[in-house]
Amino acid sequence: MGVESNSGSEFREDQHAGQASADVGPATKSDRDHGEPGESAGGPDDLKTEVQFLRGVGPRRAEMLQRMGLRTVQDLIFFFPRDYQTLAAVTPIDSLLESESASVHGELESVSSRRTRRGMHLVTARLSTHEGELKVAWFNQPFLANRLHNGMRVVLSGKPKKRDGQWEFSNPKWMVLREDEAVPGGQILPVYRLTEGMPPQQMRSIVASALGNFLPSVEEVLPESFRRDHQLISIHEALKGIHAPESEPQLEEARRRLVFQELLVLQLALAMRRENLQLKSRAPRLTSNAKIDARICRLFPFDLTEAQRRAIDEICVDLGREVPMNRLLQGDVGAGKTVVAFYAMLLAVAHQHQAVLMAPTEILAEQHFKNLQRLLSHSHVSVGQLTGRLKQRERTELLEQLETGHIDILVGTQAILQPGVRFRALAIVVIDEQHKFGVKQRAVLREAGEDPHYLVMTATPIPRTMTMTAFGDLDVSTLEGRPPNRQTIHSYLGEDDSRDSWWDFFRKKLDEGRQGYVVTPLVEETDGSQEASVKSVFENLCNEALSGYRVGLLHGRQTPEEKADAMFQFSTGELQVLVATSVLEVGIDVPNATLMTIESGERFGLSQLHQLRGRISRGTHPGFVCVFADPKGDQGRERLKAFVKSNDGFELAELDFSFRGPGNMLGTRQHGMPPLRVADLLRDRDVVLEARQAAQGLIGQEAQWLDAQFEPLRKQVLRRYESVLDLGDVG
Ligand code: ADP
Ligand code: MG
Repeated sequence: MGVESNSGSEFREDQHAGQASADVGPATKSDRDHGEPGESAGGPDDLKTEVQFLRGVGPRRAEMLQRMGLRTVQDLIFFFPRDYQTLAAVTPIDSLLESESASVHGELESVSSRRTRRGMHLVTARLSTHEGELKVAWFNQPFLANRLHNGMRVVLSGKPKKRDGQWEFSNPKWMVLREDEAVPGGQILPVYRLTEGMPPQQMRSIVASALGNFLPSVEEVLPESFRRDHQLISIHEALKGIHAPESEPQLEEARRRLVFQELLVLQLALAMRRENLQLKSRAPRLTSNAKIDARICRLFPFDLTEAQRRAIDEICVDLGREVPMNRLLQGDVGAGKTVVAFYAMLLAVAHQHQAVLMAPTEILAEQHFKNLQRLLSHSHVSVGQLTGRLKQRERTELLEQLETGHIDILVGTQAILQPGVRFRALAIVVIDEQHKFGVKQRAVLREAGEDPHYLVMTATPIPRTMTMTAFGDLDVSTLEGRPPNRQTIHSYLGEDDSRDSWWDFFRKKLDEGRQGYVVTPLVEETDGSQEASVKSVFENLCNEALSGYRVGLLHGRQTPEEKADAMFQFSTGELQVLVATSVLEVGIDVPNATLMTIESGERFGLSQLHQLRGRISRGTHPGFVCVFADPKGDQGRERLKAFVKSNDGFELAELDFSFRGPGNMLGTRQHGMPPLRVADLLRDRDVVLEARQAAQGLIGQEAQWLDAQFEPLRKQVLRRYESVLDLGDVG
């Protein structure tokens, strides 16, 4: 069997240690069969057998595997292929067809490598088969020269072309066969992540050997009846299917089982955390009534829309309970989210509590601060702003007022989350456009065992499956539509030959008294200075298209004073045009600005472009935006066309999501959760929903969940999400 027995008692003692690596799946049998002698391969702990005891793994290979984090047999069994290669059954040369996928088998000869005149790397060879020879060429894969040698037996897969009477394969996929290895037919081969010096076929056979010898030791954590209900295959079938699928459907079923399990475990953890929070966390109860409602609404210069009313009602239900609110308010740019947040904060103030409003940039914080001040100028509510610009003395004073309760509402960026910032009675935290606000930051705002309520606002709609997973399960309110009197925006995709006419139009509107933005991404110049790109755009415009107009500059590298100056001059109309980077993206509100030119549009995401465009629909005149771009490929062009065509931020976000995937912003890690291994929140959206329902069903029926048959699953949840569950010290 090629495996040394490891069942000695020295292994059994730490049977609960070091199990975190098996997290997609299984607990090992040792979890359940306490101390019983194992019936399979080498004993109950044999999944922890070190890799070097596998046949074909000597100390050198063991070290390579270790570098990849593969220390034990268990690590190998849960090291899933990153891709698959489908090998068609081998075709004899005389049966090949022009440009039809096929695989051929033979020996490599005359392997050589060179550079072409145009600088391409070319590796060429001949394949000698039973029926004759053919030519092979690989472009720009110079490493192949070291991997492929004369005399090697290989299978090549690709689309052959006949040239000068001879068959030729360009960039075929290839697989090396060991001397005694049979020629595969119609097979799906796993492709593993590799480390240097580890040939693919070696990696395959190591994993296969781990699987062949140890699969029975992997424990099934899902009871049979549960699997039947959810149509899941067993863990053993799934592991076989993921490493050595015999067909596409089998691979799909295997994947589904593993993805389901991963998401189920995550959803169980979230459900447990939620239950725990409800048991242990306490937030101030902020109930509303008609009198308070009237007092708050009187402050607003307009009537709330029905959509705003609905969102406020949902929020008020949450705020009226002792369990901290954890709600996401999403609504397109200009949907009118700010008022909803102000309402919630004022409700806290009505209950003699404090509120915090955090914005992603100083500029936006400043704007919120001014809005609040204006709104509350005739009331007794006091608003403070904590910025990096305060002098030490001012800062100390502000913090003191906060602690004594003389400030009711504090506005700032996330930088206000520092030790030393203490509240008298904080009841609600509003986070505007801030997706990276994770579990850790929250802990800072917990005061004397009381948690505040949280309201997170976003104009970048987050698909439901993401809010349920990466964000640790937020409740969601959606603000539909827009307040009345919002202007339409006309969007255009600029071509180089339309530049002149666009700038003619731009100038004409400026002459009519409107204002405009020119947005350009921060591009790293070769000398490393990032300002340069926006500055050179600025200088060009001043000298050419906009010469004679009053043009200002705004970007993230300026000092807070410079930024505030530019914003101020623009808002008073002193500046007609603002050349800016995407610092503009969030929230800036100058109603007279109705024009926008976006340069290098391909560098922005769709949602980002939509946010930018949202800056120019705030007043009484229609907006006009023109995007110039150098889209890379068809997909780039499709994206920009979609942007011009659709004015619906939700639709664009979904599109963005399918073009680019969830991206960094929405990664699980930033929210303090361990990364997912097999599940893909985009691709597996349906499974997310199903796993969530299953999790709620399980937790909802306590008797069933606590039954012995679910013990392995319970253990797995605890092991994997220990850090997030924080079951020990809440409250
Ligand atoms: P966002 O959802 O992008 O944060 P804002 O809250 O900034 O949107 O609102 C956009 C604009 O709509 C603001 O100028 C705001 O004053 C205005 N607005 C909000 N609610 C209403 C309303 N109910 N009636 C009229 N105008 C409104
Ligand atoms: Mg806003």
